[in-house]
Amino acid sequence: MSQPFSSEQLPLTENFATRIVDWYHEFGRKTLPWQIDKTPYRVWVSEVMLQQTQVATVIPYYQRFMESYPTVIDLANAPIDEVLHHWTGLGYYARARNLHKTAQIVRDDYHGEFPITLEEVNALPGIGRSTAGAVLSLALGQPHSILDGNVKRVLTRHFAIEGWYGVSKVEKYLWQVTDFLTPQQDATFYNQAMMDLGASHCSRSKPQCSQCPVSTTCIAHNSNRVKEFPHSKPKKTTPVKTTIMLLLELDGEVYLAKRPSSGIWGGLYCFPEFKDKDAMNIWLDNQGLAGVLKKLPELRHTFSHYHLDITPYHLSLPNNALSQVSEAEQSIWYNLSVPQQVGLAAVTKSLLTQIQ
Ligand code: SF4
Repeated sequence: MSQPFSSEQLPLTENFATRIVDWYHEFGRKTLPWQIDKTPYRVWVSEVMLQQTQVATVIPYYQRFMESYPTVIDLANAPIDEVLHHWTGLGYYARARNLHKTAQIVRDDYHGEFPITLEEVNALPGIGRSTAGAVLSLALGQPHSILDGNVKRVLTRHFAIEGWYGVSKVEKYLWQVTDFLTPQQDATFYNQAMMDLGASHCSRSKPQCSQCPVSTTCIAHNSNRVKEFPHSKPKKTTPVKTTIMLLLELDGEVYLAKRPSSGIWGGLYCFPEFKDKDAMNIWLDNQGLAGVLKKLPELRHTFSHYHLDITPYHLSLPNNALSQVSEAEQSIWYNLSVPQQVGLAAVTKSLLTQIQ
C-alpha cells in the first residue's frame, strides 16, 4: 500500500481510522447476509450486486442467488440465461455476465478456489481495484484500501476535496488519501465502516453530521459546505435516441430475440427493434405476417449516456399464422403463463405488463 502523505500534507487525520472503527463496533451493520459465513466468493457476489444498487434491494436477490449458486463452481456451471434470469430487475447486466465469466475462470484456472492476492483478483473480469480490495479485506482481513462511491463521498466531504472524482487526477488523489488512512490492522472493520458511514450518516441527500464519528474534523461540515461535496459531474445535455419495438403475440406467447452478448442489454431477451415504422413493415412483409398493428403508450428508458424513446407496437397473430420468425436463431416464443427462465431487459418486462 502506498503512503504518499505525511499528516502535515493531509491534516485532520489524527485518530481518523480509530474513530471510524470504534463507531463501527458500536453502530455498524454486522448481520447482513454476506457478513455471515464470509468467504471471498460470497463477499464478491455481494460487492458486485451492491455496485449501483441499494442494500435493501440487493438482499432478496443475494439470498436467491446464493440458494441457487452456493459455490463458485455452481455459478460457473450454470447456463448464462439462468444467471441473467436471476439478475432480472437488478439492472447493469454486464455485472451478471462478468460474474459468470469470472466464476468460470476461477473454476478452470484456480481449481475452484477464489484467488487471494490483490493482483489476481483485480485481473478478473468486472473486478476493479476497489472491489478487489473490498473482497480481500472484508473476507480475509487483508489490509487493502477501497474507494467506492460511499468512501469517495465521505473523503471528499471530510477533506473538502475539490473537483469531480470522475476526473483521473482527482481519483488518483483520492486513492492516495484512502491508502494513507486505511489501517494495517482492522482494515476489515475500517472498510466496512467507511461503506456504512457513506451509505447512512454521510448519505448523498440527507447527511446526519451530528451523529458522525468524524464530524469534529470534517471540513465540509465545519464550514457549512456539505452540500457542495462531492463536486458534480459537469453537466451536458443527454442525447435522445428513438426506436420501435414490435410485440408479436401468438397464442399466449410473445416473440423475443436474444441480443448479442456485448452492447446494451447484452445476452438478454428483447422484442425485435426497428429504426422506424417502414423498416418494421418491411420485416413483417418478409415474414409473411399481417394484421392490425396497435400502437402502445411510448416509454423512455434512460442509459448512462442517452435516453431511448421507445414506440411499441403490438400485433396479435391469428392462431393459424404460419410464422417463420420462430425459426430465427437465438429467439424464443416466450410463454406468458409459464415463462421460461431467461434474462429479460427491464424494458421487456415493462412492455410485457402492457399486454398481459
Ligand atoms: S460530518 Fe457530515 S459531511 Fe462530514 S463526513 Fe460526517 S456525515 Fe459526512
